[in-house]
Amino acid sequence: MVKAVVGANWGDEGKGKITDMLAEHADIIVRFQGGANAGHTIKNNYGKFALHTLPSGVFYGHTTNIIGNGVALDIPKLLEEIRSVTDRGVPAPKILASDRAQIVMSYHVLFDQYEEERLGGKSFGSTKSGIAPFYSDKYAKIGFQVSELFDEGLLREKAGRVCETKNVLLEHLYKKPLLKAEDILAELHSYKEMIGPYVADVSGFLDQALRDGKTILLEGQLGTLKDPDHGIYPMVTSSSTLAAYGAIGAGIPPYEIKQVITVCKAYSSAVGAGEFVSEIFGAEADELRKRGGDGGEFGATTGRPRRMGWFDCVASKYGCRLQGATDVAFTVLDVLGYLDEIPVCVGYEIDGTVTTEFPTTAGLKKAKPVYEKLPGWKCDITGIREYEKLPENCRKYIEFVERQIGYPITMVSNGPAREDIIYRKK
Ligand code: GDP
Repeated sequence: MVKAVVGANWGDEGKGKITDMLAEHADIIVRFQGGANAGHTIKNNYGKFALHTLPSGVFYGHTTNIIGNGVALDIPKLLEEIRSVTDRGVPAPKILASDRAQIVMSYHVLFDQYEEERLGGKSFGSTKSGIAPFYSDKYAKIGFQVSELFDEGLLREKAGRVCETKNVLLEHLYKKPLLKAEDILAELHSYKEMIGPYVADVSGFLDQALRDGKTILLEGQLGTLKDPDHGIYPMVTSSSTLAAYGAIGAGIPPYEIKQVITVCKAYSSAVGAGEFVSEIFGAEADELRKRGGDGGEFGATTGRPRRMGWFDCVASKYGCRLQGATDVAFTVLDVLGYLDEIPVCVGYEIDGTVTTEFPTTAGLKKAKPVYEKLPGWKCDITGIREYEKLPENCRKYIEFVERQIGYPITMVSNGPAREDIIYRKK
């Protein structure tokens, strides 16, 4: 049985918390896309952790945690992260890295920095983790697959080829120091040492696990609106953030994904540039940012203040549809307890017409939010464990959103901890 945990919005919806929570009853947790560019924040009995590459199941002794072939694998960062959890008392997690995953090289990180510098004010707001240059090279077929670390002749030949093309850009476009094939080889040799103990045929392992009736969680990074095809192109990430891609990025049949838990945050936030129709500014945004998440809405990787906005039914309905949501986990609802009334974006006005369908980027640029205001509940709902015990206005907010987006909210998260969850019958 495979379940995917994915985001409906711009990311930071609280997928890490939901995955950590569901991992208690799962055998295997797989990261299937993205890299160390975004982070999940998890609070549990060991403390508070920001994970970037490690799957959110690493806190349980019974789980196997997998870096799938779809991931941008930054090997030194992975090892550093393993150390950062074991240093704080978490038992050494069982980790497998796909022999088909490709490797983030130090020059990918440099190219990411150089390009953002070159673009100046027009930059993408990249976290400069090398993700876009990494995926460009993967599809240009000059990336290094983990399995290739064990073929010295191939590494040599490819390192030479990489230098040929990269050095043209470094010399003429960026005016930066050139790459040397021997440095690339030395880097690859050190990676072989580091990753060696974790390398596995992940797809084969998962095939056997499915035959044995194991429960597998696929853990997504970012959300629908950052998907390169279906998101706010070009302000998107470089790998698909959709549950459908989970099959590819883990190496399992698509029909095995039986549940798509789509995480939606009770208000909006985004890091980096890009269209965000229900964005708010000034004191209103500062207040929500300060109260948001667990200790404020600041990027888990960069510490940057997140952009804030009201819940967007148009974007979330679309976000759930593209994920194929079977369940919606509605998170961080407790944060809204301070508001007298809560604006919700229920439509976009584009050229004088109101729509509830999420348009392409050109339409988003013209869209103005249409708000409906719902009464607040003015109390702290953390600690409540039964849906019926939530204040009436809080239930009304949830049920209003559910009607607008058209997908069932089966879980409500009312605090950062594992146990802060209310299950709701469909
Ligand atoms: P992810 O990338 O989707 O895992 O999301 P992040 O970890 O970047 O952001 C979610 C933040 O909200 C983290 O700091 C979580 O600890 C916190 N969080 C998750 N669920 C809840 C919730 O229901 N209430 C509150 N107050 N915080 C939450």
